[in-house]
Amino acid sequence: MHDRSTAILMYGVLLAALGLAGCYQPVDYPQVVSPPEPRITVIPSYYRIVGTSVQRHPILSHVLGHGPDVTFIMATIHGSEAAGTPLVRRLGNYLRANPGLLEGRTVVLLPVANPDGMARGSRYNARGVDLNRNFEAANRVVDEHSGPTALSEPESQIIRQLIAQYQPDRIVSIHQPLACIDYDGPAQALAARMGEYCDLPVRKLGARPGSLGSYAGVTLGVPIVTFEMLSNDSQLDSQTLWNRYGEALVAAIVYPELMK
Ligand SMILES: [Zn+2]
Repeated sequence: MHDRSTAILMYGVLLAALGLAGCYQPVDYPQVVSPPEPRITVIPSYYRIVGTSVQRHPILSHVLGHGPDVTFIMATIHGSEAAGTPLVRRLGNYLRANPGLLEGRTVVLLPVANPDGMARGSRYNARGVDLNRNFEAANRVVDEHSGPTALSEPESQIIRQLIAQYQPDRIVSIHQPLACIDYDGPAQALAARMGEYCDLPVRKLGARPGSLGSYAGVTLGVPIVTFEMLSNDSQLDSQTLWNRYGEALVAAIVYPELMK
């Protein structure tokens, strides 16, 4: 017992000596600082069924962002000119992956404006109407494919409704096969900007009667570009289409700013 008490005493003395000698110092832990809250920018991105076609196909819009500057981009109003559809879908994915592009902006995408025509590979909708002659423009004429009255078709009504709801600052409608960037309304500079980012030349084709270009560009005064891609773009995969035209579409979205 005596030896054990001595051992404990000696151990205590040793600890005290070490403390006095500075060998045992309380650890000076660094102050715990909470890491800064990560800045999460929540950019809305949602799909919405905006209506149905003559043959009851749902027509989907993809809306990204909620800023005041609005770009409306649509494809395949002519069902036989469908290369714009994979391009616009790809654009939606790109914007979701690059939300900085959406700060202060809203982008409304309509990947398939004429699903019935697209399903049949036809320019017209299921009632044989050229939707791009079915708008309420001063130059509209009634003929075989114009529809009996302006906005007689559910598909053209949906486009008009989207324009009324979102009040876009600019519109791009993707077509084939005229291989140029056409425009209506105050869109010459926008067309030229898009032309800097792809190989299509800017060409003013003239407003078609009752077209979306005539309605939006001339009647409403909204800058609208008719983006006419090539015939054989229909054979390209979405990556190749994106390489060819993606920057031109993004340039329209950030317009009048330059792409960084
Ligand atoms: Zn067309």
